[in-house]
Amino acid sequence: PRLANQIAAGEVVERPASVVKELIENSLDAGATRIELEIERGGHKRIRLRDNGGGIAKDELKLALSRHATSKIATLDDLEQILSLGFRGEALASISSVSRLSLTSKTPEQSEAWQASCEGREMDVSIVPAAHPDGTTIDVADLFYNTPARRKFLRTEKTEYQHIEDVVKRIALSHPQVGFTLKHNNKVMRRFAAVKPENQAQRLAQVVGQKFVDNATALVLEHQGMKIQAWLGNHNMLRSSNDCQFSFVNDRGMRDKLILHAIRQAYEMSYGAVEQPAFVFYLTVNPKDVDVNVHPAKHEVRFQQSRLVHDFICKAVFDALCEECG
Ligand code: ADP
Ligand code: MG
Repeated sequence: PRLANQIAAGEVVERPASVVKELIENSLDAGATRIELEIERGGHKRIRLRDNGGGIAKDELKLALSRHATSKIATLDDLEQILSLGFRGEALASISSVSRLSLTSKTPEQSEAWQASCEGREMDVSIVPAAHPDGTTIDVADLFYNTPARRKFLRTEKTEYQHIEDVVKRIALSHPQVGFTLKHNNKVMRRFAAVKPENQAQRLAQVVGQKFVDNATALVLEHQGMKIQAWLGNHNMLRSSNDCQFSFVNDRGMRDKLILHAIRQAYEMSYGAVEQPAFVFYLTVNPKDVDVNVHPAKHEVRFQQSRLVHDFICKAVFDALCEECG
C-alpha cells in the first residue's frame, strides 16, 4: 500500500504548500473556527496544524489514514483514474506515505484523546492514548524523506514558505469567520483574527493591508443569478502587486484563466496595457453552472456558459473602474 500511496502522492503532493492546503481544508470540513499552523524550514522539516474542529473518533483514526485501497491501482487505467480524482479521500493516505505523519485527536464525546501514526513499509497504524483538547493536530515531519526525486524539486526554504503563506492567505480571504495563526521557524508571521462574514473588508485588511482596502474600488453586482463582490486596485496600485491577485468561485480559491483574462481585459480597456492589476475578486454562481473538479489541484473551473461569465465579469470590472476614473 505504501508504494501505491506514493504513486498518487507524487502527482498530488507537489510541495509543502499543497500539504498545507489539504490539511486546512480538512479542518474547515470539520467545522474548525481556529486553525494554528507551525511551519519549520519552509515546511520541509515540519508542518503542524492544530484545529478546534469536531475531531476524529478513536475507531476512525485508522480509516482516516488508510482509505486508499491498493486494489484501486491494479491496472494502468485505474491509476489514471485515481490521479484524475486528485485528493478526494486520498490526502492523508498520500501525505503519510511521503512523510512521518501523526494524527492526534479528541471528539467532544470522548474522555481522552488518541494519537495515530503510520509505520513501516505496510504503513501499519499504531494508536496510543494522548493529551489533547477537543479537535485535531496533524504533524507532518520530514516531507519527501523517502522520495529523493521529489525532494530535489523543493525550492529554497523562503520560496516554499511563500507558497504556504499564499495558500493560507487565499483560504483566509474566503473564510473570514475562522481565525488563523501562521508561524514559521517559531516566529509568528501572520495572525488573522476571526471576523463576522459581513465584515469581509476587515479580513481583507488583515490579509492584504488596510491601505489596499481604503484605496481600492469596491464592486458589488448581481446579474442573472451571478454575483460579484470585488475590491479592485486602481492604476496607482498596479506595480509590484502580482502578489495581490486573489479570485474565488463560490468561496474556493481559483487561478482560473477565464476570470483572470476577463479582469485583465477590463483593466486594459480602462487604463491601457497593465502589467499586474491588484484585486480580490469573489464570484458566486449557481453550483449547477460550474464544474470545480476540472483540475486535480482544483485551481481551475469550467463554466457552462463561459462566454456569458467572461463578459459579465469584464463589463462589471470595466464599469466600476471607469466610474472611479470619471
Ligand atoms: P477527504 O478529506 O477527501 O475525506 P482526507 O484524506 O483529506 O480525505 O481525510 C480523510 C478523513 O480524515 C476525512 O474524511 C475526515 O473524516 C478525517 N479528517 C482529516 N482531517 C481532519 C480534521 N482536521 N478534523 C476532523 N477530521 C479529519
Ligand atoms: Mg481532505
